[in-house]
Amino acid sequence: MTNQNDLVIGCCTPKKNEIEKSSQNNGKARALPVAIIGAGPVGLAAAAHLASRGQSFILLEAGKQAGANIKSWGHIRLFSPWRYNIDKAAASLLSANGWVQPQMEALPTGEELVEHYLKPLSSLPEIKPFIHLNTKVLSVGRKDTDKMKTANGDEIPFVIHAEQNGEYKTFESRAVIDAAGTWGNPNPASSSGIWLADERELKEKIFYGIPDVLGSEQQRYRNKRVAVVGGGHSAINALLDLAALKESCPETEILWIMRRNQVEDAYGGEEKDALEARGRLGSKIHQLVDNGQVEAFTPFRIQLVKESETGIELIGSQNGKQISLDGIDEMIVNTGNRPDFSIISELRTSIDSATESAGSLAPLIDPNIHSCGTVRPHGEKELSQPEKNFYIVGSKSYGRAPTFLMATGYEQVRSVAAYLSGDFAAAEKVELDLPETGVCSVNLKSSIEEPASSCCN
Ligand SMILES: Cc1cc2nc3c(=O)[nH]c(=O)nc-3n(C[C@H](O)[C@H](O)[C@H](O)COP(=O)(O)OP(=O)(O)OC[C@H]3O[C@@H](n4cnc5c(N)ncnc54)[C@H](O)[C@@H]3O)c2cc1C
Repeated sequence: MTNQNDLVIGCCTPKKNEIEKSSQNNGKARALPVAIIGAGPVGLAAAAHLASRGQSFILLEAGKQAGANIKSWGHIRLFSPWRYNIDKAAASLLSANGWVQPQMEALPTGEELVEHYLKPLSSLPEIKPFIHLNTKVLSVGRKDTDKMKTANGDEIPFVIHAEQNGEYKTFESRAVIDAAGTWGNPNPASSSGIWLADERELKEKIFYGIPDVLGSEQQRYRNKRVAVVGGGHSAINALLDLAALKESCPETEILWIMRRNQVEDAYGGEEKDALEARGRLGSKIHQLVDNGQVEAFTPFRIQLVKESETGIELIGSQNGKQISLDGIDEMIVNTGNRPDFSIISELRTSIDSATESAGSLAPLIDPNIHSCGTVRPHGEKELSQPEKNFYIVGSKSYGRAPTFLMATGYEQVRSVAAYLSGDFAAAEKVELDLPETGVCSVNLKSSIEEPASSCCN
């Protein structure tokens, strides 16, 4: 007999009655709801499309509210206007319930996106009863079988193991849409991409993401020696905020660590840039480096992040020489994110080995070739996995590629929901009207609101 604890992942132990409850439905999967993992913009859009088509679903969200990942960067202003941030099925449901749409050309902050769109959407009578908040999915598999078995696999219900408010719980479904994003799973500072124990041990002094330097996190960075790691837009946001903080707290020291061959590569075209605002951003950083407010170390490849007597020490190589930077009080790491596949390891998946995107997406989204605006529309066909009725969508479907846009995710889930509703013609017909430069506005006033590239993140 199977040991009940075999089902356990993480802290939660299934109780006998919970196992019994989940064993009652031994029939085929067809009558069960579709399960969506993650109530970010894409997971909620999937719910809106399924609801519009009269399909039953459950939506499992680890956070205490919808848009939990976006809340953590709520102080950042998006680069795409409202027009591109709202899913069509969601807008129809919202409008039918008296929602007043925002000014479509305005750029919301993350906080505004949650408050004026995701929160009202998750509160609709068509969606709210089916959301399970504080429900972290631990693993997904097929009922009473493992991925080695092939017989009738497609007909067997999925079983989703989750931790809900500290209790173990299982859910059954006929399909699974994984919209869990990548934001909670950052890359390390180390250039090898490998999480070394020393870096993990320093987690109290390292912020992975974009801290609210001028707001709630100000105390943490005042008059500190701070190293910002990364050469993209998120790192630049942090650097500009630290430079603004330095005006009132002049002891603040700002180090900028990148793998780029020369710091000029991070400035972009400046006044010659095709996007004027991006050029201005480059000029601003250029100025901060030139006047010594930001000290750039590049190309610096971090090999070790460790605690020293004077703070954090970074050991790495610069132009072939081994060097050490010491006495760092705080680090802000913006080296991208990666998908967490641990929850779907009992499913048959096809994942690109380099980008970690959903297998067939890799050539479409390769950031070496594509910007967010040149990714061609794609849907159920490209997103289908060897495990039938299982889909990875949203930012998680792009793996480590940083070029994902909500508008692309909305088209993905429109197509997947159509397929799961039996409307194969609608699933097949994928359309996405994006300008080649992406959907990111270039008419931004504030320096921290300017894009570092034609993509948004
Ligand atoms: C700073 C920043 C700015 C951006 N600006 C733009 C922009 O201007 N325009 C644009 O189009 N895109 C932008 N993006 C990119 C992208 O559209 C967003 O990251 C968007 O939030 C992705 O949506 P998502 O639904 O795929 O994932 P997320 O928003 O990350 O949502 C995933 C959800 O899944 C939940 N979850 C995770 N794991 C589990 C689990 N195991 N069990 C249950 N729930 C789980 C999380 O709590 C979260 O609520 C930006 C990204 C960043 C980081």
